[in-house]
Amino acid sequence: MSKVNNLSAIFGCNVFNDSVMRSKLPKNVYISLKQTIKEGAELDSAIAEVVASAMKDWAIELGATHYCHWFIPLTGSPAEKHNAFLTLISPDEVIMEFSGKNLIKGEADASSFPSGGLRATFEARGYTAWDCTSPAFVKDGTLCIPTVYTSYNGEALDKKAPLLRSMECVSNQSVRLLRLLGDKHVNRVMPSIGAEQEYFLVDEKYHSQRLDLKFAGKTLFGAMPPKGQELDDHYYGNLKQRVSEFMADLDVELWKLGITSKTKHNEVAPAQHELAPIFEIASVACDRNHLTMEVMKKVAKKHGMRCMLNEKPFEGVNGSGKHNNWSLSTDAGENLFNPSSDLKNNKRFLLFCAAVIRGVDLHADLLRFSVASAGNDCRLGGHEAPPTVISIFLGDDLTNTFEQICTGVKNNDVHQAYLDMGIKTVPNLKLDSTDRNRTSPFAFTGNKFEFRMLGAPTSVASCNIMLNTIVAESLDYISTRLEKAADIQQEIDNVIKDIYENHKRVIFNGDGYSEEWRKEAKRRKLPEFNDTVDVAPCLTKKENIEFLANYGIFTPVELNSRYEITLRVYNKTKNIEAKTMIDMTEKQFLPAGFEYANCLSKGVKNAKEAGIESVYALEKKKAEQFGAILNDIQCALDELKASLQEAYDVKYGQTLKRATVYRDKVDSSMKKLRKAVDTMETVIPRKLYPVPTYVELLFGVD
Ligand code: ADP
Ligand code: MG
Repeated sequence: MSKVNNLSAIFGCNVFNDSVMRSKLPKNVYISLKQTIKEGAELDSAIAEVVASAMKDWAIELGATHYCHWFIPLTGSPAEKHNAFLTLISPDEVIMEFSGKNLIKGEADASSFPSGGLRATFEARGYTAWDCTSPAFVKDGTLCIPTVYTSYNGEALDKKAPLLRSMECVSNQSVRLLRLLGDKHVNRVMPSIGAEQEYFLVDEKYHSQRLDLKFAGKTLFGAMPPKGQELDDHYYGNLKQRVSEFMADLDVELWKLGITSKTKHNEVAPAQHELAPIFEIASVACDRNHLTMEVMKKVAKKHGMRCMLNEKPFEGVNGSGKHNNWSLSTDAGENLFNPSSDLKNNKRFLLFCAAVIRGVDLHADLLRFSVASAGNDCRLGGHEAPPTVISIFLGDDLTNTFEQICTGVKNNDVHQAYLDMGIKTVPNLKLDSTDRNRTSPFAFTGNKFEFRMLGAPTSVASCNIMLNTIVAESLDYISTRLEKAADIQQEIDNVIKDIYENHKRVIFNGDGYSEEWRKEAKRRKLPEFNDTVDVAPCLTKKENIEFLANYGIFTPVELNSRYEITLRVYNKTKNIEAKTMIDMTEKQFLPAGFEYANCLSKGVKNAKEAGIESVYALEKKKAEQFGAILNDIQCALDELKASLQEAYDVKYGQTLKRATVYRDKVDSSMKKLRKAVDTMETVIPRKLYPVPTYVELLFGVD
């Protein structure tokens, strides 16, 4: 286990961060680059040469021999192609070289990345372009340069480019509104993200024996052991030695990469844990969340474990999500969602909150789409994660404030400011202005909004692209009204009132898991999208295509590619799961079942020969019952094969139709097969069950 005496000495030691830049770059180059990073000024390509050379020298000192343009293609996982800093200057002599050109632009054969029809294979060329707002870093002997990734025609083939566009968009609209409110100095407003990451740790020796974990990243079979999470004894429980050692190593590796791993604890399910960093600028937070997931997996392997990020790796216990804490801050460092006691700033706060409320209500479909995946479909709405209807938890205080503005009636029903603990030695605590509500998909948590619908493996880019844009559009709406108003102060009140009146249906402060809420949400006509197949078509709606194109986030072609890819990935995921189930059933479960059936038959035969009637009757009954289970497995297996064939028979190109077959037919056949095999698991002797069980997977790390 890594021992760290001085955290600050290692923090960011592998990052080409501000202090490295200040010490390694000539002053004018440093200032110019900082302007691009902080203020969004255009990158001066003349400085690239100097930066490249400084970066290379710095990276070589850290043992790097290669560089790579590091990007997030539409697979959702980082891609890297390593190039040595190597130039041949004579047949047997090399120098280490890295030019400004190498830094700014790279070329990557794009033909094997998903493009959703954006790029024909004959136009295989794709380009990576340096995103200097996210710092370069050294990882495993390679200098990694965060980049955006585009097609030959400039269409975004990645998650980062649209994220940067949406950040620019929400910044412009925020600045516009702030200027109208009298702020003369603000030039830029940036979204910040703090991504809380959940994960499971499973012992490698058990993990490696299960084909479903290997191929699908989740268990496709498995009966619950006698104990699960019902005693709530894992959440915040003390860390097992092995887990604690893993977490300590993970912290060190993350800190070296400048990732502010801050909070760690056991989560609700056995074998489940969480890590949270300190929030930072959205694009950097996005890159770093990807890196965090990668490092988690690597460090877990070193400790003989597997880190699982699937949204629902085990039935019967909680799945893993990611909480996206989001706020907007000015270049002066002011958080626009900080409630204030002074009226002027409070109006600003209320306007920005109103923009969020309006945006979420009007564009719930896009937000819902941004977290849609086959894996997350198994988690959302399951009383462990938010429901599939989007609502906002505002808390009583903020809801009251809006109500008072609308009704003009003063309401004293606000929380006491201090929580009296009733214990003399413990000081009274200042109450947060909002209580916690764990059941809401989108909660105001004091000075930020927390979007809780993301699945654990999902890139935070997707939801923040939508979040930034829907809020930008509402800010645009607000500013347009204020610009036209004769009395701006009066209009501010009118806007707050109108937005609240028109969009308060999306606000819900109660229990999001309750049946009443389902009914109430229907009554309020809030859109409900149960799954990926339900929500994906929202990307083909004219108003959404125009909306995202108008704000410069996705061209219609880019948007269509996201639609296609989402559904294709959905189909492929289901296909892999179905094929894995068939394989495991045919090669592992049925043979084990027949072996046991054989034992049972022998038992029947022996009892009969021995002439012991009562034992014979029992053995016979058991054998018959087991025969019925085997029969169920065989029938479910045949049905799954037929369903799968139905999906294959859908004409090529009809992605939505095929996805519908996967959801309606293949998925329900998979459920039947699982149920039959899991029933067998509960009766077959442990030594005959061919793979590690939930007991080993969930309780095997000690
Ligand atoms: P909880 O589990 O109560 O939600 P955590 O401490 O686990 O709280 O995580 C909260 C996350 O929110 C952290 O990543 C934190 O850095 C982040 N956060 C705090 N303030 C802001 C903010 N203003 N904007 C965005 N994220 C924030
Ligand atoms: Mg937390």
